[in-house]
Amino acid sequence: MSDTQRESLQARGVHTLLAQFTDMHGVAKGKYVPLAQLDELIETGAGFAGPSIWGTGLPRTGPRAEYYARADLAHPIDPLPWQPGYARVVCDGFVAGQPFEACPRQVLKRASARLAERGWQLKTGIEPEFFLLQKQEGRWLPADDGDRLDKPSYDLKSLPRKAAFLHGLQDTLSGWGRQVLQLDHEDAHGQYEVNFAYDEALASADHLMGFKLAAQALAEREGWVFSMMPKPFANQPGSGLHFHVSLWDLKDPAHGKGLFSPSADERTQGHDLSLLGRQFIAGVLAHAPALCALAAPTVNSYKRLVVGESLSGTTWAPAYVAHGPNNRTAMVRTLPGRFEWRLPDASANPYLATAVLIAAGLDGIDRGLDPGPACTEDLFALSLGEIHRRGVPLLPQSLAEAVDALAADAVVAAALGPVLHGEFLRLKRDEWLGYARHVSTWELERYAATF
Ligand code: GLU
Ligand code: MG
Ligand code: MG
Repeated sequence: MSDTQRESLQARGVHTLLAQFTDMHGVAKGKYVPLAQLDELIETGAGFAGPSIWGTGLPRTGPRAEYYARADLAHPIDPLPWQPGYARVVCDGFVAGQPFEACPRQVLKRASARLAERGWQLKTGIEPEFFLLQKQEGRWLPADDGDRLDKPSYDLKSLPRKAAFLHGLQDTLSGWGRQVLQLDHEDAHGQYEVNFAYDEALASADHLMGFKLAAQALAEREGWVFSMMPKPFANQPGSGLHFHVSLWDLKDPAHGKGLFSPSADERTQGHDLSLLGRQFIAGVLAHAPALCALAAPTVNSYKRLVVGESLSGTTWAPAYVAHGPNNRTAMVRTLPGRFEWRLPDASANPYLATAVLIAAGLDGIDRGLDPGPACTEDLFALSLGEIHRRGVPLLPQSLAEAVDALAADAVVAAALGPVLHGEFLRLKRDEWLGYARHVSTWELERYAATF
């Protein structure tokens, strides 16, 4: 098998493999491995110092100190067009000869296996939003700061200036067999979005990691920084990573009709989703605070999930635990046969976010939860007082709050497994403390001369 693989890669001019895995933060990591070592990469993997990888919790000595990134040939080996001669191999984490439980890709494989036991498969269409930035005289600025339009959404002045970059991205992704649907300028200065066709959940997460590598490389070539920071500018919208989610019957080879598709009766009752779909989103709503820790995993994430009509109305990021038909102001926007999970931001690890989404959805199904009445109103138009009066829960407003919710949520904790759950809590609490102890310019301006 690997002989033919190697020969075909050689024929395509590949001499070196990028053995790539993903750390807890959703950052791609790896090593170069000469093509001649392909067998070794498939059978054993490339070795790394385990404790140097975020979120492994591995010891510094002994047999468990070594983390192996082992090729998973279920994902195609993709040549990197921006780096001729190199090709990316998607790898799984192995420790002491066994799949490593805290490897994010393993976490998603475990969650998908729980679905497969019931004959189901989850598909996701992930929508990354991102900024192209430049650092000038120590300040971070959008790479197309020139026009300063009031509403840069869908702007056609800056889009052509980025056409070469976006086309490079489109070309790379379609060369890898990814179907790109649309590319646009988003709501903030220097912000863009790429939409892909939906795919099986693990494949979508793998492709998102490939997309990030390509976008980073192509942006760097132009002298820009590709940024998936959730909210780089206080007064501009942030970057979401929406997931369009559907569930499919594995036994239905044509994948004709998704399991979230409503029956004709349910349709006439005004439902976008089948009973199974409604129970799934009920689980997602019930576990929203803990899901936030994975879907909005940085201190900066909570500057995107803003509460308050004047801000949230213009940023389109959810602030409340609600669902509604084609309701972009709710955390869950339902559409016929699928839903858009609008909570995740661009800094989310796509493997972990999907895995915990599955766990929450399955819990909703197993407990037969009801998502409650659909919200058809513009939630951004309601005052905070009105939101409270109606009992609409707020999403966590800080990383600390989300991490506490994760600590207390047994369903989401079980999906991560004890090692990753413990490491995630430890590292994120540390991240929060680092931030909480920092005295910002805002505080100095506000308080220094006040009292
Ligand atoms: N940028 C928004 C967010 O942070 C989403 C905008 C949109 O609906 O595409 O979620
Ligand atoms: Mg968008
Ligand atoms: Mg969207």
